[in-house]
Amino acid sequence: MMGFADWLPSMPPPAVQDRLASVSAAQIQRCLVAGSGPLRDAPLLFSTAARPHLEAMAARARAITLARFGRTMNLYAPLYLSNHCINQCAYCGFAAHRKIPRSSLSLDEAQQQAEHLIKQGIRHLLLVTGEAPARYGLDELCRVIERLRPLVASLAVEVFPCDLAGYRRLVSAGADGLVLYQETYDPDRYQEFHPRGPKRDFRARLEAMEAGGQAGFRSLGIGSLLGLTPTRVEACYLAWHCDHLSRAFPQARLAVSFPRLRPVSGGAPISHPLADADLVQFIVGMRLLFPDAEIVISTREPADLRDRILRLGVTRMSAGSRTSPGGYSDENLDQEAGQFAIDDQRSVAEVAKAIRAAGLDVVCKDFDPAFMAAQPGGKA
Ligand code: SF4
Repeated sequence: MMGFADWLPSMPPPAVQDRLASVSAAQIQRCLVAGSGPLRDAPLLFSTAARPHLEAMAARARAITLARFGRTMNLYAPLYLSNHCINQCAYCGFAAHRKIPRSSLSLDEAQQQAEHLIKQGIRHLLLVTGEAPARYGLDELCRVIERLRPLVASLAVEVFPCDLAGYRRLVSAGADGLVLYQETYDPDRYQEFHPRGPKRDFRARLEAMEAGGQAGFRSLGIGSLLGLTPTRVEACYLAWHCDHLSRAFPQARLAVSFPRLRPVSGGAPISHPLADADLVQFIVGMRLLFPDAEIVISTREPADLRDRILRLGVTRMSAGSRTSPGGYSDENLDQEAGQFAIDDQRSVAEVAKAIRAAGLDVVCKDFDPAFMAAQPGGKA
């Protein structure tokens, strides 16, 4: 099967802009009655022309989510293991040129942070590092995964890209989810935001996600950092990437995130701000295109917005997050050494209360460990 990186040049950003601009009301109405698949429908559902149909799209998205996921919301929290990084991403607080306190957690410190979250009811952890393999690489990561695996229901990683052998090591150690954002699918703008470091290789990053799929991760998480480039174009690319991965790796559950760029001092400006209503449109449009995909909203977003979109298609939310190594035991660390400022500052208990108030159950455990153990070569 052709890789997504080989397909992408056939749909350059100006072509996507043209498709978004030429959408008619009749096309949207036809799409809402009978879709033709993500390739054709993504520009329809993410266009400005679809805005008058947002209520109908939201009602449909809500019904699909209820049918596929029930009244549930999966809560997770990030656990930052290291903020060392050799890249210089223009939008990130960990970029190599920034003068911030740098640290990596020891194995025991990582466990203490995890136990802090577990005490609050979190059973799904997302392990996060920068990219500095000489300081914090696969060996360190695998040791943490092996230590934490018995303590939680699922462990995903959002770390430096690996090759197939590297990802196989992570899966074998017990990681079940991979999160790797492309940040932008526009290859020229990508170069602007990634001036130095291995992350500058646009194609290698795209191909890493496919290596993750081949390695056997149960969940593959993708996202664009919305605010850097025209957001409707990015939403289309995200849908097409999701479509490609779902056909290439049907055994994996796809997870789509819509992180909006948060301000970082001296960092990339938010040159394409995304309004709340547009974010809602992307969420419900993605749900219509991919009924079974997880849709993820993090604490980057404000509490009131997160509460309002609880039942529109979102199935996974972070809660009580800190974005620095050790941030769960020292609340001040995030201010000087965090990756970005979170907006929803509520505790896990407060977020869980809001979810229950919306008539949903908080999922703290799921079938993953038992399911994985039952697979050939599986590991609980
Ligand atoms: S986004 Fe990731 S790779 Fe880029 S500077 Fe931040 S931590 Fe490093």
